Amino acid sequence: MRYISAPQRSQSVLASASTRGGAVSAEVSGVMGRGGLGGSGGGSGVSPCLAAARRSGLDTEQIMSWIDEQLVARGIRDARVLDAMRRVPREAFVPEASQPLAYTDRALPIRSGQTISQPFMVAVMTEALMLRGPERVLEIGTGSGYQAAILAELATEVVTIERWPELADAARATILSLGYTNVEVIVGDGSLGLAARAPFDRILVTAGAPRVPDALTRQLSQSGGRLVIPVGSPDQQWLKVISREGDRLDETTLDACVFVPLVGADAWPE
Ligand code: SAM
Repeated sequence: MRYISAPQRSQSVLASASTRGGAVSAEVSGVMGRGGLGGSGGGSGVSPCLAAARRSGLDTEQIMSWIDEQLVARGIRDARVLDAMRRVPREAFVPEASQPLAYTDRALPIRSGQTISQPFMVAVMTEALMLRGPERVLEIGTGSGYQAAILAELATEVVTIERWPELADAARATILSLGYTNVEVIVGDGSLGLAARAPFDRILVTAGAPRVPDALTRQLSQSGGRLVIPVGSPDQQWLKVISREGDRLDETTLDACVFVPLVGADAWPE
C-alpha cells in the first residue's frame, strides 16, 4: 500500500479544547443506525438523554446546554453527530458516583483502570469518521460503550472490541438496555483488527497507539475507507485520519490528544 502523508494541520476545532500541555485529553480523559434510539425522545418529546438525566436528578439546564456550550461553541458542525450526542444518555455509561459529572466535558474513570472519553473528543473523532448511515464500523476500545452507542446512531452496523472482559460485559449490557440492536461487543486484541469480518467502511481506535497497526489499514474498505486513530507516545498522541482508495493511503494529522494506551500484539506491550 502506498502511504501519502498530508502536511500536518492544526484543527481550529481543537484550539479551544480543554488542554493538558496543548493536548486534548480524552483519558484523564440523518440516517439512523437501524437499532438506534432515534430522535423521538421515546415519544414524549423529551430526549432520552434529558429524560434519563432528570431521573438521575441532574441539572436539566446543564443537560440542555452542554451540546451548545461544549461542542458547537468549539467547532463541532456535523448536525448528525450533534443530534446523536443529544440522544445518547452519557450518564448511563458512567459509574453511579460519577453521574453528576456525566455532562461535564471530562473523561471519567470506569472499571479496569480505564476511562470513558471526554465528550468533545468523542465528537471530534466521530465527526472525523464522516459517517453517512450505511457504513459498517469497527471500534477498537469499547470501554464503557458510550462511543459505540454514538456510532450506532450514525451507522448501520457497529462491531466493537475490548480487551477487558468485564468492560465488554458491562458495555454490552448498557447498550442493550438502551435498545441498540446494531452493536456487537467482542473481547479481544483490537490491534489485530477483526480479519474475519473485514472489510470495514470505518475503523475508530479509542486508545493511544505507538503506530498505525497494519491489520487495520488492510481491513479498511478499499473504496473510501476511513480510519481514525491517536498515534504517538504513551503521554501524548496525534489524532490521525487515514483514508483508503485502492492501495493508496492518505494520512492527515489533526491535533494533539491524550488517551489510555492501546495494549496488544501490534501496540504497546502489557
Ligand atoms: N470508547 C470508550 C468509551 O466510549 O467509553 C473509551 C475507550 S478508553 C479511552 C480505551 C479502551 O481501549 C479501554 O477500555 C481499554 O481497555 C481498551 N483497549 C486498550 N487496548 C486494547 C486492545 N488492544 N484491544 C481492545 N481494546 C483495547
